[in-house]
Amino acid sequence: MRVFEIASEAVPFAKTGGLADVTGALPEALAGLGCDVSLVMPAYGEVFSKGLTIEPTGIEFEVPIGARAPLARILRCRRPGSRIDVYLVANNELYDRPTLYGGSHDYADNAERYIFFSRAAVELACRLGGRWDILHCHDWQTGLVPAYQKLLYGSHAAVAAARTVMTIHNMAYQGLFWHWDMLLTGLDWRYFNWQQMEFYSQLNLLKTGIVFADAISTVSPTYAREIQSAPGGCGLEGLLSSRSDALTGIVNGIDTVVWDPATDPHIPRPYGSDDVDAGKYAARVALAARLGRAAPDSRPLVAFVGRLVEQKGVELVLEVLGRMAGSGSAHFVILGTGNPEYERQLQRAAATFPGTVDLMVGFDEGLAHLVQAAADITLVPSRFEPCGLTQLYAQRYGSIPVVRATGGLVDTVVDTTPETLRDGTATGFVFEGFDAAGLDAALSRAIEAHADKPLWTRLVRHVMRQDWSWGTSAREYLRLFERTLASAPAPVE
Ligand code: ADP
Repeated sequence: MRVFEIASEAVPFAKTGGLADVTGALPEALAGLGCDVSLVMPAYGEVFSKGLTIEPTGIEFEVPIGARAPLARILRCRRPGSRIDVYLVANNELYDRPTLYGGSHDYADNAERYIFFSRAAVELACRLGGRWDILHCHDWQTGLVPAYQKLLYGSHAAVAAARTVMTIHNMAYQGLFWHWDMLLTGLDWRYFNWQQMEFYSQLNLLKTGIVFADAISTVSPTYAREIQSAPGGCGLEGLLSSRSDALTGIVNGIDTVVWDPATDPHIPRPYGSDDVDAGKYAARVALAARLGRAAPDSRPLVAFVGRLVEQKGVELVLEVLGRMAGSGSAHFVILGTGNPEYERQLQRAAATFPGTVDLMVGFDEGLAHLVQAAADITLVPSRFEPCGLTQLYAQRYGSIPVVRATGGLVDTVVDTTPETLRDGTATGFVFEGFDAAGLDAALSRAIEAHADKPLWTRLVRHVMRQDWSWGTSAREYLRLFERTLASAPAPVE
């Protein structure tokens, strides 16, 4: 099966969140199952700073975007040891910027940047020749691909018989733009209606992808259910429930080579489930040094690693810090960046509880590994969470997740109760409602369990043995691709 993965970011080239982890690892896992996979993404400036060999392909073409036709130059790269061709769509004016999507405000021309990318990706699929089976699109940035394949490239042999799969990593980001950006798409205005590309007078790129794709997937079965009603569907719940036959939930895997405490270059002493204490102690010594301390803290280390945005439940963390840090029962380490107001409030908490609350502002991949290795407990108190990777990394590194029962967190963490301890299925601590009292109670249960050394050791060993590798998930994607290929394409009208 020939699969073209189309995404706006992928590890190790460029990353702002879990999407890049998925698009970095899934192609390799699919290739391992015998698929012929290529990936295409924009050639952002940072792609060239990763020490990878990037070469020209000689393929270049103009992409009509409204009245303009900027040039797309196609570069190619192969990661060491990989069989996947990664194509990079280069256009310095559009992609050579300090960040991927903008800073505190999105770039004003993001519609143009990703309309260009989507059209260039389909054009590239045609120019690469042969016949594609699946065009696999990720998130709003690629939402126009299914529409282009059906409406503009339907007679092109390379993609005519292909099926499009739209994978939704987060319903909260839909690519909403003013209606005049419809002109940039080159598609007929008649598609700008409430059943296809329009959302309350605006152009909605994710909606377009959901409407035109032959199959839709999202990143956990629970989230697949949640997005079919409000508030999970973020306004598209009606459309999603009308397409529920075409909608599947597949939990993300993790890259078990990049995230492996036994070989991790970011941690001072690699470890497995038998020497986890020694490994964690060494990681804490290193983390203490990063924090400017002479010695590590002996209290349970409670970590939060994630984007500082409303989705991630930062306000619950802030409330719980106010309540628990005073008691000194744990040491809190927070690594994140995002909303400046959250950063300020967390800074205030760190200043109020010196030595008990440590905040590290920034996006630092290596530090994320070190924090997970050092941590006993990892907080993921999300308001909503399509899949979540942090709790999976935490498990692999022997840090017990404390999570809210939402989306993929429901599918990947089993609450610790007398029953789940007895039957050996417990993998974390779960709370239901989005409130600080719930987080407080779940975290208190975790800290109490931590004090029971034999119980904690058993729990840690058990979570470290969980298999979250891509094998199972990639097989599910393959089955989805096979099913989609065997069924009729989604109708255009
Ligand atoms: P999302 O995609 O919503 O941000 P996920 O849990 O799916 O959430 O994935 C988040 C990914 O980003 C994880 O790999 C996590 O380690 C990483 N990450 C988030 N914030 C930071 C940060 N400040 N520094 C380093 N890595 C981070």
